[in-house]
Amino acid sequence: MVDCIFCKIINGEIPSSKVYEDDLVYAFEDINPSAPVHVLIVPKEHIASLEELDEGHTSLIGHLHLVASKIAKERQINESGYRLLTNVGKDGGQSVFHLHYHLLGGRNLQWPPG
Ligand code: C5P
Repeated sequence: MVDCIFCKIINGEIPSSKVYEDDLVYAFEDINPSAPVHVLIVPKEHIASLEELDEGHTSLIGHLHLVASKIAKERQINESGYRLLTNVGKDGGQSVFHLHYHLLGGRNLQWPPG
């Protein structure tokens, strides 16, 4: 998509600190980290948010979860614990309208979030 910042990151038009890439997903360090580990995991397909998913995306989202688990192990936060989340829409706090999952860890995360 032409004006999508995450599409530009995936395409290499905007630089990012890449963590992982395969045919389906791209992961990179969040530019404004909220925790010692804060990685964004993004489908390469432009999907605006979770609300645009359909049955055809089932394996993609399952794959993305397995990538998150792999990165958590690499960052050694799998035993202490971590959070994987996607913000949806205005009240959900979504600011970039290309589906992405935040992988957060490396500190004791509070609940509920603000
Ligand atoms: O869930 P939300 O849409 O608010 O998350 C967007 C995230 O994308 C933010 O955590 C922000 O720091 C990150 N971001 C980034 N690089 C950019 C633009 C936004 O890592 N160039």
